[in-house]
Amino acid sequence: MSEADLIVLDQVNKRYGDLHVLRDVNLNVRQGEVVVIIGPSGAGKSTLCRAINRLESIDSGTISVDGTPLPAEGRQLARLRAEVGMVFQSFNLFAHKTVLDNVVLGQVHVLKRPKDAAVRKARELLDRVGIGGQAAKFPAQLSGGQQQRVAIARALAMEPKVILFDEPTSALDPEMVNEVLEVMTSLARDGMTMVVVTHEMGFARRAADRVVFMADGEIVEQNAPDAFFGSPSSERAQSFLAKIL
Ligand code: ADP
Ligand code: MG
Repeated sequence: MSEADLIVLDQVNKRYGDLHVLRDVNLNVRQGEVVVIIGPSGAGKSTLCRAINRLESIDSGTISVDGTPLPAEGRQLARLRAEVGMVFQSFNLFAHKTVLDNVVLGQVHVLKRPKDAAVRKARELLDRVGIGGQAAKFPAQLSGGQQQRVAIARALAMEPKVILFDEPTSALDPEMVNEVLEVMTSLARDGMTMVVVTHEMGFARRAADRVVFMADGEIVEQNAPDAFFGSPSSERAQSFLAKIL
C-alpha cells in the first residue's frame, strides 16, 4: 500500500453459508479519490460496503482504514466506524426526530461535541445540501431527495474520512435523482474520499476517478471511467454495459 491509501482491502473473503459473496477482494482507495462500484444485482457490492464499515463481519483477509486494521468489535471499532460515513438507499433517518436533530445527535453522542456547536454545524451542513429551510420538519414531511440530502448532511457531520454510498438514488423518484447526485458531485469536487455503488452511469462518467466492476463476488476489472466505458476488457463487463446503456 502507498501512504496515500485511505482504505485497503487485502484478500477479503465473505461467505453466507455456501454462498461465497466476496472472493479474494483487493481494493485500495486513495485519499480524495472517488471510486464508483458497478455490477449486477447480487454481485456483492452492498456486502463490500457493509464490510468496510464492519456492519458485516468478514471470514478472512484484512480491511484497513487510514492505516489501522479494523478490529472485529469493541470500543476501538466504534471510533473507527465513525471515520467511515455511510449513506443507504433507504435513507435510514430517525423518523421521530426533526431534520436538525437527525444531524445533531451523532455529533453529541458519538463525537461528544457540545450541543450548541453541534447545532451550528448541523445548520451549516443543511444549508450546504440545500435544505436549510427544512430543519424543523420531520423526515416524513420531506421528499425522498430531501431526505437523502439530510442523510448526507448527517454523514458529513461526523467528519468522516470517507463516505460510502450504497445506491443512494435507487429509491428516489426520477425527478429527485439529480438533486442528490449534484450534492455528491460537489462533495467529490471538494476532495471528499467517496466509494459509491450506483447504477447512474452518467455520474460514474462525470465524477469517478475510477470505476470498479464487480460480478459474482469478484472485482472483475477496474479502470478510469473513459477507459472502462470506452472499452471494457472483460466479457462480463461488456454484457453488463450492453444491458444497461
Ligand atoms: P449487491 O449489493 O451487489 O446486489 P449483495 O452484497 O447485497 O449484492 O449480495 C450478494 C449476495 O449475498 C447475494 O446473493 C445476496 O442474496 C447474498 N446476501 C446478502 N446478504 C445476505 C445475508 N444477510 N444472508 C444471506 N445471504 C445474503
Ligand atoms: Mg446492493
